[in-house]
Amino acid sequence: MNAQSSESVAVNAALDVVRAVEPRIADAIARELTAQRESLKLIASENYASPATLLAMGNWLSDKYAEGTVGRRFYAGCQQVDTVESIAAEHARELFGASHAYVQPHSGIDANLVAFWAVLAQRVEAPFLREKSVRQVNDLTESDWAQLRHDFGDQRMLGMALDAGGHLTHGFRPNISGKMFHQRSYGTNPTTGLLDYDALRETAREFRPMIIVGGYSAYPRKVNFATLREIADEVGATLMVDMAHFAGLVAGKVFTGDFDPVPHAHIVTTTTHKTLRGPRGGMVLCQPELADQVDRGCPMVLGGPLPHVMAAKAVALAEARTASFRDYAQRVVDNAAALAEGLQRRGVRLVTGGTENHLVLIDASQLGGAATGLTGRQAEAALLDAGIVTNRNAIPQDPNGAWYTSGVRIGTPALTTRGLGVAEMDTIAELIATVLSSTRPAADSKAKYTLDESVAAKVSGQASDLLSGFPLYPEIALH
Ligand code: PLP
Repeated sequence: MNAQSSESVAVNAALDVVRAVEPRIADAIARELTAQRESLKLIASENYASPATLLAMGNWLSDKYAEGTVGRRFYAGCQQVDTVESIAAEHARELFGASHAYVQPHSGIDANLVAFWAVLAQRVEAPFLREKSVRQVNDLTESDWAQLRHDFGDQRMLGMALDAGGHLTHGFRPNISGKMFHQRSYGTNPTTGLLDYDALRETAREFRPMIIVGGYSAYPRKVNFATLREIADEVGATLMVDMAHFAGLVAGKVFTGDFDPVPHAHIVTTTTHKTLRGPRGGMVLCQPELADQVDRGCPMVLGGPLPHVMAAKAVALAEARTASFRDYAQRVVDNAAALAEGLQRRGVRLVTGGTENHLVLIDASQLGGAATGLTGRQAEAALLDAGIVTNRNAIPQDPNGAWYTSGVRIGTPALTTRGLGVAEMDTIAELIATVLSSTRPAADSKAKYTLDESVAAKVSGQASDLLSGFPLYPEIALH
């Protein structure tokens, strides 16, 4: 009998313990592994965390309340949480060359909220308190407090337009950021699809935002953060960069110099679970002058820290400091370039005509220079029928809006973790092009379509064959 790996022993033992209490949950966890193993995952924002990262989360650190920051907690008995949080922050600072790291945010949205309120505290609250000669908000009169609350809600933010690839949290109305700030968007050049820095500068000069937000969810190119900082300085704005999507490419030294946001931005936010390949979570990096305000994240806008997740962040950040992670980050980008090239060779139209990062944005409305009539939603569903997991996404000036969309966003972080390389990307490009060329939109619906079952079955079989050569979590065998 083969000896089981320590990962297998640990996972099986944990599942047995869970199964004894609620077998349906143990089964769901086990089935999720099978589902992930079987799916050709091209979702640009997802990845596979290492067993060490995953296992660091399932423990009693979760039982501890630890409001506050390292060495300054509102609860007793936080020595181990202090250790965990300090190590995670140290890895983050070293990895990104940041002067301060705050590793408590529970997600990317939370990290952005921490950052917004840190900037508001620095630029609105602190000067107001000085002007009123009081130390803290509790010392303000009722009318001064009303004035300050009004001032908080009267600030301006400039963020990337949603259909250019920006994120809801960058000042859009459905998100709290849009309710907090007067927002204006910058976008991309309608012909090239590339970020229009001149137009951005013009808008910034005219709008005079307090915060300029850089970063994106669906822009397939590098962004020049040195230029963004120059524009921010010119108009007296704070530059905040949300690197949620590409943090792994910064960590892996694929994005350096002008394309690394950390030396240029006043404040940087990120998720830890996308290209960075850690646990679900968020993080804020900032320049020294914002550090105290950032550290007030909990209880300002965050619930109590999740010490078990901070432990997993520390493990993942330690992994991201290795040469093998740098190699991974480069392969993510090489794979995206190969996928983009393979798609274009087969007549698929890509927004901006290619990629320089981990993602590719397909315009599903065209193929081989002709209109397909497909929405992103139809394309996404047809690809899923054929075993290819993607997500629909708006493209610039999208006639189908944010729900149906005309685009499909794909990315390589997850498949690269599995070990797929440029040769496999060409096969995947072929599978995607086959599905797109075989799918017909329904005349009366932006959601319905027809895709011949035999095509779906054939592509799905080819996708499984491809994946079988690259087992996911090969060290884990469930019993
Ligand atoms: N910021 C950007 C740019 C994102 O793409 C996302 C997630 O898609 C977020 C923030 C939100 O991250 P989370 O889902 O962890 O809150």
